[in-house]
Amino acid sequence: MAVTYECAAAERTASDVATGRLVRRILVPLAKMRCTRMALGAASTALEVFGGNGYMEDWPMARQLRDAQCHTIWEGTENILCIDVRRAMRGEQAHLALLARMEQALDTAAGHKVLATTVDTVAGALADARTAASYLESASDDIALLQSRRFAELLADASEGALLVEQAAWALDRDGDARKAAIARRFASRHLATPVLRGITDPDRMVLDLFEPLVRYGQLEDSDLAA
Ligand SMILES: Cc1cc2nc3c(=O)[nH]c(=O)nc-3n(C[C@H](O)[C@H](O)[C@H](O)COP(=O)(O)OP(=O)(O)OC[C@H]3O[C@@H](n4cnc5c(N)ncnc54)[C@H](O)[C@@H]3O)c2cc1C
Repeated sequence: MAVTYECAAAERTASDVATGRLVRRILVPLAKMRCTRMALGAASTALEVFGGNGYMEDWPMARQLRDAQCHTIWEGTENILCIDVRRAMRGEQAHLALLARMEQALDTAAGHKVLATTVDTVAGALADARTAASYLESASDDIALLQSRRFAELLADASEGALLVEQAAWALDRDGDARKAAIARRFASRHLATPVLRGITDPDRMVLDLFEPLVRYGQLEDSDLAA
């Protein structure tokens, strides 16, 4: 949702309209790649909630899954979207505009203690994306193509993290609500950090203790989130 809305808002949220256009140029293929693939996973999980009934055609879930499979094709297959990201980088240097926009998003979180760890994690992912982009610029064509999907995934992850942090700062500033800060933290720890033992021994109980407000859009205080 964060990257999709940013595609619509880019010309207003970037430092100027031309930069916003470049952000949108590269973020649209990333959003299509990410959202269609996630929708397929979500449809599969939703089907499973119904157990065996989910699979049977008596219920609409099988159709949801079948339709979701279409989106990863007709929105542009992943390979083609990754090639499009590469085209936007080589032709227009659009990734630089995106990375600058994400730095701007992270800057909004300065001063929010509850976001400090998340900001550090996202900043690390953005630094990785910059380093990877420089490497790919000087890599041979076949190597750059080979890595284009991994790079697109990294750029999508880092962008999502930065936008979630920005939204979290906005919700804290406007409403004193830390729910989005919890979401951003969860996203960063699941998708951007490399947890020890895959996170199995991580004692964090956030999703157990805050399940209701997290899934039902309840309000949270800073103090609800352990440091
Ligand atoms: C239900 C449905 C409705 C549709 N409606 C429309 C419509 O209204 N308007 C419209 O214009 N189109 C429509 N399409 C077409 C859709 O846009 C294409 O199916 C889609 O773009 C994929 O192209 P393709 O089928 O030619 O697959 P191909 O291009 O043949 O791709 C097959 C596989 O090869 C891979 N591949 C292809 N080229 C490369 C490459 N250079 N490098 C690496 N891998 C590659 C792809 O990733 C894919 O996995 C529809 C498709 C479906 C299924």
